[in-house]
Amino acid sequence: MSSITISNIKIDYKVDSIEMLLSKACKKCKIKKSDIDSFKILKKSIDARHKPDVFYVYQIFINTKNKVKKIKHKDIIYDKKLKIYKLPKVGSESLSKRPVIVGFGPCGLFCAYILAKCGYKPLIIERGEDIDNRSKTVESFWNGDKLNPESNVQFGEGGAGTFSDGKLNTGVSDKFGRLQYILETFHEYGADENITYDSKPHIGTDVLKECIKNMREEIKSLGGEIRFNTRLDDIKIEDGKVIGIVTHNKDNDKEFIDTNLLVLALGHSARDTFYMLNDYLKMERKTYAVGLRIIHPQNVINMGQYGTDDERLESAPYKLTYKSEDDIPVFSFCMCPGGYVVNASSEDNRLAINGMSYKDRNSGCANSALVSHIETDVAKGSDVLANIEYQRGLEEKTYNLCDGKIPAQKYIDFKNDVKTESFADIGYELKVKGEYEPANIRSILPDYINKNIIEAVEYFGNKLSGFNMDNAVLLAIESRTSSPIRILRNENFESEVKGIYPAGEGCGYAGGIMSAAADGIKIAEAIVNKFTNEDLRYDG
Ligand SMILES: Cc1cc2nc3c(=O)[nH]c(=O)nc-3n(C[C@H](O)[C@H](O)[C@H](O)COP(=O)(O)OP(=O)(O)OC[C@H]3O[C@@H](n4cnc5c(N)ncnc54)[C@H](O)[C@@H]3O)c2cc1C
Repeated sequence: MSSITISNIKIDYKVDSIEMLLSKACKKCKIKKSDIDSFKILKKSIDARHKPDVFYVYQIFINTKNKVKKIKHKDIIYDKKLKIYKLPKVGSESLSKRPVIVGFGPCGLFCAYILAKCGYKPLIIERGEDIDNRSKTVESFWNGDKLNPESNVQFGEGGAGTFSDGKLNTGVSDKFGRLQYILETFHEYGADENITYDSKPHIGTDVLKECIKNMREEIKSLGGEIRFNTRLDDIKIEDGKVIGIVTHNKDNDKEFIDTNLLVLALGHSARDTFYMLNDYLKMERKTYAVGLRIIHPQNVINMGQYGTDDERLESAPYKLTYKSEDDIPVFSFCMCPGGYVVNASSEDNRLAINGMSYKDRNSGCANSALVSHIETDVAKGSDVLANIEYQRGLEEKTYNLCDGKIPAQKYIDFKNDVKTESFADIGYELKVKGEYEPANIRSILPDYINKNIIEAVEYFGNKLSGFNMDNAVLLAIESRTSSPIRILRNENFESEVKGIYPAGEGCGYAGGIMSAAADGIKIAEAIVNKFTNEDLRYDG
């Protein structure tokens, strides 16, 4: 038996199929289809450099039934071992109380999953609701009901990623195979196989929700426990070590939970919790980006990117960057092809937005944030939490502009600084989850950011035809691009208080679903490597 890795297999999107892929792969390495024992697609990307001729480019791994004759070719490697993630080795230090994870977003989820798989029966505390109840709460909020500050687009099972576009790409390198493991795990728990090899994997909020529920059940079956509607309110420390936490649930029952291992997987919107933790842990300010979200008809983006709006191609994404005349970068962020702009608020009388899509990405609209970094000293005052107050100020202005509805403005009106009166004449239907209203949003952000956004949109129009169309629509405000703080941790991932592991996006160690999940895995590895699970007294 031989194994062959074949790269650079190019297929016209119009004739793309597994049959075609295998034919081309066999031809390239001079074997017959009947020689194939098994195969696995390793990578699939899209090449639209010569639009409208668009190609898929594959890398495939083939196991043959018998040894095959090797040929020399730059795209062919024989007997290459695939990187497979291995669960961490169990350590020797005694641990009698079960580890507690606060937050059940991607970071907490994967931390809990690895700990549960290694026999550590973690307890997970999550302030929001389980996915099914949370989905109902969020839908009614989008339909005009009051915000639930404990369970919303930011808080609840699955974390901020649950109502997301579900882009699973990351700029982080995958030296240890963790990222591939995350993708394979999502596939194991319900996602399509293509997320394991697409160069820009996308899962969609609908599929992601099912995967998270399935993983939660697996964690429970391995002895883990998950308490929803339960918030971390305080931590107890003795002699520089954590000895427990104080929580309360929705019936307002307070509880002290004994633990010597606490993972803080809080997410970037846990502002009240950051204030509490600031009394105990060292933090620093972190720069983050703010801006607006822009909607275009998806066919404009498809034409610009592919030179065709052929429905056999997926809704096209884009990633654009610009440096303003003042040398300030403006960039597209969290672009959602075929998606919706969503009201992603989590605090009363404050409004924040983001983007979401379903697996099929077929809303007919493309949206993306256009953001610019706020320097750490923009927020006034020396307080480490001053950036949070800056975010809050922007969100309050946004909320007040249209009495809690998402303020939106045609790009042409934004440029001319005049209020949009109606969207009746834009020629397409805006896809927004949550109530919105025509407005003049120029008053929300500092004027230099507005100016830079206009410069950027004009520049992007030269790169992606149609981007600067008059009837593109801008919405406010994109203020939660990443955490405004970092909780310091050492090379063993612990804070200066022993037993506390700051993790994921909220504590400043990740940006996005994949890197947050990978950070959760790293924390679990550190815990497993150090402690044995044999002395755990908790038996469910
Ligand atoms: C609408 C939207 C779309 C997005 N789209 C994408 C995308 O397409 N791709 C991508 O990579 N990223 C996307 N993101 C960002 C991504 O969701 C986050 O980067 C990721 O979820 C961070 O993971 P985390 O586990 O660190 O934190 P979170 O997912 O924020 O999870 C933290 C959890 O902690 C809980 N919590 C907080 N405080 C407490 C407390 N005191 N007690 C108990 N529980 C607490 C919260 O309720 C929350 O569930 C999107 C975000 C949003 C809001």
